[in-house]
Amino acid sequence: MITFKELGLNNDLLRAIDDMGFINPSEVQEKAIPVLLEKDTDMVALAQTGTGKTAAFGFPMLHRIDVDSRTTQGLILSPTRELCLQITQEMKTYGQHLKGLNVTAVYGGASITDQARSAKKGAQIIVATPGRMKDMISRRLVDISKIEYCVLDEADEMLNMGFYEDITSILSHTPDDKSTWLFSATMPKEVSTIAKKFMYDPFEITVGTKNEGSKNVSHEYYLVNSRDRYSALKRLADGNPDIFSVIFCRTKRDTQKVAEKLIEDGYNAGALHGDLSQNQRDIVMKSFRTRQIQMLVATDVAARGIDVDDITHVINYQLPDEIETYTHRSGRTGRAGKNGVSMVIVSKSELRKIKTVERIIQKKFTAQEIPTAEKICE
Ligand code: ADP
Ligand code: MG
Repeated sequence: MITFKELGLNNDLLRAIDDMGFINPSEVQEKAIPVLLEKDTDMVALAQTGTGKTAAFGFPMLHRIDVDSRTTQGLILSPTRELCLQITQEMKTYGQHLKGLNVTAVYGGASITDQARSAKKGAQIIVATPGRMKDMISRRLVDISKIEYCVLDEADEMLNMGFYEDITSILSHTPDDKSTWLFSATMPKEVSTIAKKFMYDPFEITVGTKNEGSKNVSHEYYLVNSRDRYSALKRLADGNPDIFSVIFCRTKRDTQKVAEKLIEDGYNAGALHGDLSQNQRDIVMKSFRTRQIQMLVATDVAARGIDVDDITHVINYQLPDEIETYTHRSGRTGRAGKNGVSMVIVSKSELRKIKTVERIIQKKFTAQEIPTAEKICE
């Protein structure tokens, strides 16, 4: 197996890699890092969730920027505030031995003046959500006219969420000769359109097959009467006392309701959805990361890209409207070689959807019974 050193990273970064305990690069890192270190090239990299994409673009960017300069040289666009904060944190960790490194997060729901000040103070790297970034540019609060590297992270999600216009507008303020690195789990039409439009002869990388990210995940469905959905959820939790899970609901309202009921019933649960303030969301995520919350009830949008290790179960309280979304949900578990279970609570009328999901993920579900109260007490 190849080492990080052989990929050509500098000593400061190798030290951080050591500190973090990474031993070998993941496949996407092995393929992307040497190319991005050596060539001024655009790149399209396709790899499932959990394959280490952040480090695949993060290390080369950190290696290449000039930390003695106060110019913004790197821009990373990502779909959500949570992801933006997570990438910022990760970039700081990777670059902990780079003296003078300044990474700034730019996202909605927090003070724009604070973010502008921090960016202007000499951030070599800005990690941003498209909406807020566009806003800051139009108010001339940031200068990205000299960036050399632009990452579109989770490009499929960003476009799914309707950020096409914002991304286009942001890119129009960047130099033509920058390198654009696009990372995505899937390659829908919209992503190839944006690649064609903004990239010149990109270096292409594909890691594994479409479903490789979920190879450690077993898929189960539980047939219940529609009105028994909530009690089924409780039984599933009771049957798995060490559960550490994300529970997906279809709407913000259901998300809030289910979380409230769980808390009322004495479970360590929390809600994550777009109607909460940024501060509330930060608190919930912190409690989840520290395991004070065992069951995070979330909408798809709010949970997007969130990287929390060791999630044991993904529970689909309701199936998503878009079957593609199921792949993203189940990809939250079974990461880094661990096993995971993706459970779906279905009513009889939705049962045929399981077949569609099976076709798309090319895996079979097993039909399971909700554990009975007696079984749980055993
Ligand atoms: P992706 O963006 O592809 O979903 P992430 O970049 O969020 O994946 O990485 C997933 C997890 O794997 C993170 O916890 C990260 O710290 C860890 N990780 C990344 N690269 C390595 C590596 N080479 N060795 C061990 N762990 C790694
Ligand atoms: Mg990622």
